[in-house]
Amino acid sequence: MNNYQVALYIRLSKEDEKAGESESITNQKSLLLRYLKENNYNLYDMYVDDGYSGTNFDRPEFKRMIKDIELGKVNMVVTKDMSRLGRDHIETCLYIEKYFPAHNIRYIALTDNLDTSIDNDIAPFKAIMNDYYAKDISKKIKTALRTKQRDGKWVGGCPPLGYMQDKSDKNHLVINQEEASIVKLIFDLAIKGKSCYQIKEYLNKKKIPTASILRGSRGRSNLASLGIWNTKTIWNILTNRMYTGDLVQNKRNKLNYKIKKIVYNLESDWIIVPDTHDAIISKEEFEEVNNIIKKVKRSKINHEKRLLDGLLLCFECKHKLSICSPRNNKTYLVCNYYRMYSKNKVCTSHAFNYDNLELEIIKIIKDKLNEIKIDKKIKIDNKEIEKLELEIKTKKNNLDKMYIDKLEDKIDIEMYERINKKLNMEIKGLEEKLLKLKNIDTNKEIDLINRDLIVRLIDHIEIHKDKVVDIYFNFCNH
Ligand SMILES: [Zn+2]
Repeated sequence: MNNYQVALYIRLSKEDEKAGESESITNQKSLLLRYLKENNYNLYDMYVDDGYSGTNFDRPEFKRMIKDIELGKVNMVVTKDMSRLGRDHIETCLYIEKYFPAHNIRYIALTDNLDTSIDNDIAPFKAIMNDYYAKDISKKIKTALRTKQRDGKWVGGCPPLGYMQDKSDKNHLVINQEEASIVKLIFDLAIKGKSCYQIKEYLNKKKIPTASILRGSRGRSNLASLGIWNTKTIWNILTNRMYTGDLVQNKRNKLNYKIKKIVYNLESDWIIVPDTHDAIISKEEFEEVNNIIKKVKRSKINHEKRLLDGLLLCFECKHKLSICSPRNNKTYLVCNYYRMYSKNKVCTSHAFNYDNLELEIIKIIKDKLNEIKIDKKIKIDNKEIEKLELEIKTKKNNLDKMYIDKLEDKIDIEMYERINKKLNMEIKGLEEKLLKLKNIDTNKEIDLINRDLIVRLIDHIEIHKDKVVDIYFNFCNH
């Protein structure tokens, strides 16, 4: 009689279900139990994860087994094959080569002929193969999905508000009239110039049901189930090309088969098939709405990000100064530290007018830039000006000489007039160039002061409680 206390670990994933009976729970169970009986081992417990993917170890029964190992109740683990343990080869190897030995666990993968008490040379190789298999499966599933998407088949599960899956073909969408009327209303409001925020307010006031309320019985919606519209939802509806009858898929992806994180794809990677289902919104109307709301959004973003946002610090406590949202058309600063602990009198408010400060800072920057620019410009431009002036002088000399030649009848009148005309034109061109150079408007470029430039130029700005301003430039400040 041996003293092994055996844990049998059984896992069936959704992919395995498709593979058929050979991987089934019953099958794994009977194989493992037969093995125990033949070898006269003690069964401590059986751990069965049904429907869990092998690509991570976040499985309840697996965790329970690990707990029993930690408690010293188990000293041997048996699975049908190594891929039952896990399909991620790094983690699987970690268990086989580090974790199990460290806990004095003998591990056996029956059909892989692996017994860690004998020899485990083949384990890493097998683990890599399992990892490859999982990758391959997830790639195959993805490829199959893409093919369907390119064929204009809806494979996204829950369709956007206004549509439902065709009862006779789940890859085809048909209009859900009740929902579609809400979509139409949203587009109508947008065409009238209402912002996403205003539309949201309107729908909430009118108690128009949200997708999650309408679909509550279907229980598949991820949206907030409270029946309250939010601005993001409105934006998503107004920018969703699906409403024009085009199928837009592959907007997002799982990062890879090991991680469940969702990534949003670039628009260029979207799979778009035109006119696969009935439109709720005409293409023209959609275009119009998107022109409007995208413009509004742009101007709003520009407005929200103030020129000096994030650069302002309180001199006294070194915390950030926030730019408050405008009240009565005036924008004020406030020390964050003061704002959070105003009762404790840790700092003072520093509530100065932001717009005045911005104007002041812009002026300082312009002066600073002018200093640098004029310095350099004089050196460069003087050379250029000298060169031009010399050229003009030479040509004028030539003109004079030619005039004398003509007087002395060395050239005829026709040639004189031709060359005279040519030289005069050249002189005129040079003189214009010279004038331009001398009159360069030094303020022209500086008018372009924008946030990008500010962030490059300024490291940060400290404001004293008595309104003194220290600007820390990113370049030498002397
Ligand atoms: Zn402060």
